Amino acid sequence: MKIAVLPGDGIGTEIVAEAVKVLNVLGLPLEMESALVGGAAFEAHGHPLPESTLKLAMDADAVLFGAVGDWKYDKLDRPLRPEQAILGLRKNLGLFANFRPAICYEQLVGASSLKPELISGLDILIIRELTGDIYFGQPRGRRIATDGHFPGAEEAYDTMRYSKPEIERIAHVAFQAARKRKAMGKEGRVTSVDKANVLETFQFWKDVVSEVGLQYPDVELDHMYVDNAAMQLVKAPKRFDVVVTGNMFGDILSDEASMLTGSIGMLPSASLNASNQGLYEPSHGSAPDIAGKGIANPLATILSAAMMLRFSLNQEASAQRIEAAVQKVLAQGLRTADIYSEGTTRVSTREMGDAVVKAL
Ligand code: NAD
Repeated sequence: MKIAVLPGDGIGTEIVAEAVKVLNVLGLPLEMESALVGGAAFEAHGHPLPESTLKLAMDADAVLFGAVGDWKYDKLDRPLRPEQAILGLRKNLGLFANFRPAICYEQLVGASSLKPELISGLDILIIRELTGDIYFGQPRGRRIATDGHFPGAEEAYDTMRYSKPEIERIAHVAFQAARKRKAMGKEGRVTSVDKANVLETFQFWKDVVSEVGLQYPDVELDHMYVDNAAMQLVKAPKRFDVVVTGNMFGDILSDEASMLTGSIGMLPSASLNASNQGLYEPSHGSAPDIAGKGIANPLATILSAAMMLRFSLNQEASAQRIEAAVQKVLAQGLRTADIYSEGTTRVSTREMGDAVVKAL
């Protein structure tokens, strides 16, 4: 099983090192090779996604990714900014389905800004379509300056579009995920989020999702407008099970959902293509404010590695072992600074990784 390891910038290198340590003690035949990406690759090779890094990723069964970016690159031309590496990987690997679970660990209920009764037991999955929508609509040619600004322009626009096959394939992913969750004793229901009352694209989305839903009579489907979904996520988040939505709404709702648990350092994510090759990364960024201090929480990355074992490498038992080990260290009261509360034991990035290894 070949894994391309791309730590990236900021805390990326610190947290990925801990995930690699965890993967190494599972006793699996994993072949891991690292490469530069993002700002680190720009510094060394003049491009955030060098050919050699892309090739390594494309030849691997899965990519374990840290994070990219730093404020110091904000003045670079858009194609050279570190974040372009993620877009390049998504495009070249054909990653169209982004999975973001928002799970509230019982030990961390107090970390949420919501009342404990709203959040306790939360286990939802947001599935975001990654390749269509307004982010990739035509025309994008209004950009008259490569730095993304419009000196003297009177207007700017982007267009929203989705094709039927794009909606169908993400709908299938959502129904199949709900079915799997049902088999694991969860509710297994799909909520499709749209803005069908205002946007043609999303009336079409709603129709196509409903049509695909007919092939899954065992999975319940409901539809919700995005404004209501944003409200419900903070009012009654447990009413959701699997949420499926487009690229832009998914971008916003998945961030909102991930913050429900109050701990960005805990949340993994997966982006998959049609053959289950995937890119696995924490939901957070490169956190330049705490980089190099050894205090970042590595658990989101370690849990992303568990998702990698589950979705791309077909190693469900090992994935569950990692998840159980994470639960165990939390139950032992070990906390990095971001999830620390009185009465618990504060540990560094490395100590947290070591504790997970020991629990395994
Ligand atoms: P961020 O997620 O990096 O940080 C937000 C806040 O959360 C910061 O206070 C940070 O210290 C904290 N935080 C994040 N991860 C943490 C962890 N594991 N443990 C403890 N605390 C953690 O978002 P930002 O500050 O808006 O962006 C910083 C840089 O990251 C920017 O250059 C941005 O473009 C980039 N970014 C990259 C990705 C990615 O690589 N996928 C995603 C988002 C942002």
